[in-house]
Amino acid sequence: MTLFSYLNRAFNGFPSSSKILVVFSLSSGGLVAYSESQSSSAPKSTELEKLPKKKKVVVLGTGWASISFLKDLDISSYDVQVVSPRNYFAFTPLLPSVTCGTVEARSIVEPIRNIIKKKKGEIQFWEAECTKIDAANKKVSCRSTIEANMGKKEFSIDYDYLVVATGAEVNTFNTPGVKEHCHFLKEVEDAQKIRTSVIDCFENAILPGLTEEERRTNLHFVIVGGGPTGVEFAAELHDFVHEDLAKLYPMVKDKVRITIIQSGDHILNTYDSRISSFAETKFARDGIDVNTGCRVISVTDKEVNMEVKATSEKVSIPHGMVLWSTGVATRPVVKDFMDQIGQGKRRVLATDEWLRVKGCEDVYAIGDCATLVQRKVMSDIAAIFKAADKDNSGTLIVEEFQDIIDDILIRYPQVNLHLQSQHLSSVTDLLKDPQGNARKEVDIEDFKLALCQVDSQMKSLPATAQVAAQQGTYLSSCFNKRELANFQPEGPLRFKSEGRHEFIPFRYKHLGSFAPLGGEQAAAELPGDWVSVGRSTQWLWYSVYASKQVSWRTRVLVVFDWTRRYIFGRDSSRI
Ligand code: FAD
Ligand code: MG
Repeated sequence: MTLFSYLNRAFNGFPSSSKILVVFSLSSGGLVAYSESQSSSAPKSTELEKLPKKKKVVVLGTGWASISFLKDLDISSYDVQVVSPRNYFAFTPLLPSVTCGTVEARSIVEPIRNIIKKKKGEIQFWEAECTKIDAANKKVSCRSTIEANMGKKEFSIDYDYLVVATGAEVNTFNTPGVKEHCHFLKEVEDAQKIRTSVIDCFENAILPGLTEEERRTNLHFVIVGGGPTGVEFAAELHDFVHEDLAKLYPMVKDKVRITIIQSGDHILNTYDSRISSFAETKFARDGIDVNTGCRVISVTDKEVNMEVKATSEKVSIPHGMVLWSTGVATRPVVKDFMDQIGQGKRRVLATDEWLRVKGCEDVYAIGDCATLVQRKVMSDIAAIFKAADKDNSGTLIVEEFQDIIDDILIRYPQVNLHLQSQHLSSVTDLLKDPQGNARKEVDIEDFKLALCQVDSQMKSLPATAQVAAQQGTYLSSCFNKRELANFQPEGPLRFKSEGRHEFIPFRYKHLGSFAPLGGEQAAAELPGDWVSVGRSTQWLWYSVYASKQVSWRTRVLVVFDWTRRYIFGRDSSRI
């Protein structure tokens, strides 16, 4: 039986109550059958009334952080409501592929209702944006985003626990003209607008009666920001132009220019230097201009104005389209919340290592909207010494230090990083004297000296999907263990008070990062200081990104899109 006739029989043989999709999956490399039942297991309203009152959890957002929180949350103990202006989850790492039609927009989104219906029990979803967090009265004000005949509906919801996962917004650094004349690449709609705009530039450039110069200007694509998003878009656009558009617009194909403007000295400067230089060499070969050390000062409908940092020289370049991708900023609703809770002077909302918002009870913040502030060892040094010095002798012997070392390593992960950076095999090596001789005991001053370098190893976590997803999963595991942790705390010793912390603090595990560079080549930074570049890395990228999809439906759609692009090329219709 051929695969096609098998599929045909499978689809016709099963009515609407169940779907069977049979796909070749790049991620698993095999034939996978998937069946999804439509039966609903939601309890009836009379059953719900009999249940004991559950704690109310309100989750703001339907992005990486909130979806991973919801996926693992045991909702038998909580009454969960989700508020977001977006009724779907978007797989953001594939947004650059949507800008050129390599992947279709609907292939990378999953309706939130598909995700929550898979949970046993009920999660309420409201398509609205949170306009105010009222931490004092434990409620959030919301406004529907749909313009209905009665206007935008406003309502408020009470919570026992609030999970803020609203992500971040584009940072324009208040640069004049950016909001009016630049594209952004943050949401699915942004990617769709860019796709239309690229085609518009080509259609405009071939209109009769234009000068050579006007055609060149229309086909000058400028990207401000040489981070992963800007670089990936440049690579996608280059492939789109050379693999597809050059055949359709042969008369202007040599007039296309792609320019990246980067304020730092290198593109991809958060990656390993081997990746940056591989990307720069490849782009130079591909004819993509990389202007490093330049700061954009304003953008008009016709020009990008910049300053060369080294010489302060002002330069203007004409453009057909500009993408602005220079980083993220805090959303106004979060900023307002920060003002209420005494964090007004900070740039980003701060949480502790358990992802609890500092200065606010029962509010958690995960993903791009917040930053985890790791407590310094030196702030607690006296308390650590006191806790270790069990016999109150005023000195620490090695055995006393060893007794609490596990708690120190869990509570302050920077200690382990310091040991690795100094190539020390044991924590007790820290107690050696400046000449490297072992000491029997140390006093508080020696102890301070031994640990004074440790805090320099602290780094803030990057604003990535990987961090957001791990934080969501971690937080749901804490919520699921909340009852148990009350009488069986699993965390480290509390140095400044009594007992133990309820939970082990959040710890980020970096699984590596990719930078697709076009022409079926990618670069990857993998754990263990391992860097991989080239075509095989691009195949690794395909399989990782297929396997990371949130549902089998989107996994199949994305793999089909890649195959379609490979066979038929990208679609250049202006829709
Ligand atoms: P988001 O995913 O942005 O979700 C925020 C949610 O909050 C959204 O649903 C939004 O609608 C909602 N919201 C906004 N305002 C409100 C409000 N007032 N009330 C209620 N809800 C609100 N990371 C990687 O690790 N690897 C990559 O390859 C990668 N590639 C990327 C490519 C692009 C083009 C972009 C833009 C980002 C990429 N990232 C990548 C970063 C990653 O997307 C973010 O770090 C991640 O989305 C953060 O997750 P989050 O849940 O905090 O926020
Ligand atoms: Mg002692």
